[in-house]
Amino acid sequence: MTAKIIDGKRIAEEFRREVRKGTDALAARGRRRPGLAVVMVGDHAASAVYVRNKRRACEETGIASVAHDLPASTSEADLLALIDRLNADSAIDGILVQLPLPAHIGSTAVLERIDPAKDVDGFHAYNVGRLAQGTPVMRPCTPYGMILMLEREGIDVRGKDAVIVGRSNIVGRPMALELLIKAATVTVCHSQTKDLARHVGAAEILVAAIGKPRFVPGSWVRPGAIVLDVGINRLPDGKLVGDVDYEGAAERAGWITPVPGGVGPMTIAALMKNTLESCLRRK
Ligand code: NDP
Repeated sequence: MTAKIIDGKRIAEEFRREVRKGTDALAARGRRRPGLAVVMVGDHAASAVYVRNKRRACEETGIASVAHDLPASTSEADLLALIDRLNADSAIDGILVQLPLPAHIGSTAVLERIDPAKDVDGFHAYNVGRLAQGTPVMRPCTPYGMILMLEREGIDVRGKDAVIVGRSNIVGRPMALELLIKAATVTVCHSQTKDLARHVGAAEILVAAIGKPRFVPGSWVRPGAIVLDVGINRLPDGKLVGDVDYEGAAERAGWITPVPGGVGPMTIAALMKNTLESCLRRK
């Protein structure tokens, strides 16, 4: 069979349009537009690209983004002081600290300093805890983006066997919690998993969040599976590929997300949605 492609680029565009309607409606009522503070420390090349994309999405959705580009030498104390100011700033609904931070700054301390109500990345222990309890407030953007994508495509995950490869705090772990809320039967695999091929082969929903180019061969994919490829890996020739061998997997899967143009744009759309929702909640 040939998989149906889940066009994340198109679906993300729809969500951005919907967020735009929401921010325009606020402006039409004379209310301020949502504000997102984007904090970047140092000049990590990949981060700079992500931050640029997020700022562009803010422009498109009518969210006021405020850039805080700090030198790599910024101390943890200074960064925490900035977070305190942003927490207290009534024009700011969302605070995003782009990771990774330089090694001398403890990212946990920084993420935990963000007011959970403004934690649009959903990484604060409060928001992770709410997600674990099945009553999420601010949801981590990449998993939330995948859930929005599945809902928009009308894919029902209830009762399905879902296998997630990767257990990071930003993707694998919160995605397991999201899929549990949706009543999938969830298995989380990682570097210590025995016989990964067997687990992957049983997956009706496969989420690959490993960070290794084309790590999952198409031959592992269960016929008809829904394949969500989170991986973004740049090959030496500059090409971007996912964690799944796309060509091979597309011959067997029922649905598949491409890289680029799959999960990536949905992550940013979810961030815009979180920021608007934070603004509406705070008003
Ligand atoms: P991490 O490096 O934090 O986590 C990778 C996970 O993969 C770990 O849990 C690790 O296991 C597991 N893993 C590594 N090697 C193997 C192996 N041989 N077999 C099974 N599992 C393995 O990565 P992230 O979660 O941050 O990101 C994953 C990918 O997703 C990256 O390519 C990243 O660029 C991309 N990404 C894309 C986003 C998007 O918007 N599309 C957003 C965020 C990330 P263990 O824990 O045991 O070490």
